[in-house]
Amino acid sequence: MDLSGKVALVTGASRGIGRKIAVTLAGYGASVIVNYNGSREKADEVVEEITDNGGQAEAIQCNVAEFDRAKELIDGIVKTYGRLDILVNNAGITKDNLIMKMSEDDFDAVIDTNLKGAFNCIRHVSRQMLKQRSGRIINISSVSGVMGNVGQANYCASKAGIIGLTKSVARELGSRGITSNAVAPGFIRTEMTDVLPEDVKKAMGEQIPLKRFGETEDVAETVAFLASDHASYITGQVIQVDGGMAM
Ligand code: NAP
Repeated sequence: MDLSGKVALVTGASRGIGRKIAVTLAGYGASVIVNYNGSREKADEVVEEITDNGGQAEAIQCNVAEFDRAKELIDGIVKTYGRLDILVNNAGITKDNLIMKMSEDDFDAVIDTNLKGAFNCIRHVSRQMLKQRSGRIINISSVSGVMGNVGQANYCASKAGIIGLTKSVARELGSRGITSNAVAPGFIRTEMTDVLPEDVKKAMGEQIPLKRFGETEDVAETVAFLASDHASYITGQVIQVDGGMAM
């Protein structure tokens, strides 16, 4: 896959899946903006990993949940690089609790980061992509958004919302050469899943036909494919990278 000459923004790229997506896109030749919210040192490490391997990257702080800050982020990238070809909305958080106990703040925080954060970035990038008459929008959803999950009403609502957002954007922007797709990972080994109790992880593993948790590269390579010319006729799709868990 060749992404040379492309400029990519990966939100929430300081850790986990986002980090691997950033490193993978850069490995295929894209200039990558490594967005983070709080983990500055980790984001700098990602940039170092990319540049050590001959790639191009820079870290930019932005809380994507804030509409105006997301605008500054996108406008700044367009000003510096002259374009923005690939937007990967990966930033995400969990604040799990049973519905009876879930606080309004925890519901709002998850929707604001996971769903509104994606809306904010798409909203601000759309003008530039329309001008370019090309662009790739890739939103990280989750199998939880497809299946639902106990204790994750806020998270599942945000990830199901991402699917509706993805499809609407695909319909609105398709005529201008812009594709919009979602990737829905199952259980991927990251800090987000490392915190789960061992018995829960074991029970989850048993539900997966491929009998293992996924790795961050499983998701990152799918994102790279969707960002590449090989996927130019694919839009409005939800690609599940879940070992067959949610079929
Ligand atoms: P993670 O290890 O917890 O990393 C989350 C990333 O999001 C961090 O880089 C964090 O940056 C960033 N972030 C959080 N809030 C942000 C905000 N308001 N603005 C900008 N960046 C923000 O998570 P992960 O497991 O890699 O998950 C990445 C994505 O995949 C998420 O959307 C998640 O829902 C989805 N997903 C994960 C799994 C899984 O099994 N791991 C499964 C399905 C879907 P800071 O550190 O700077 O805060």
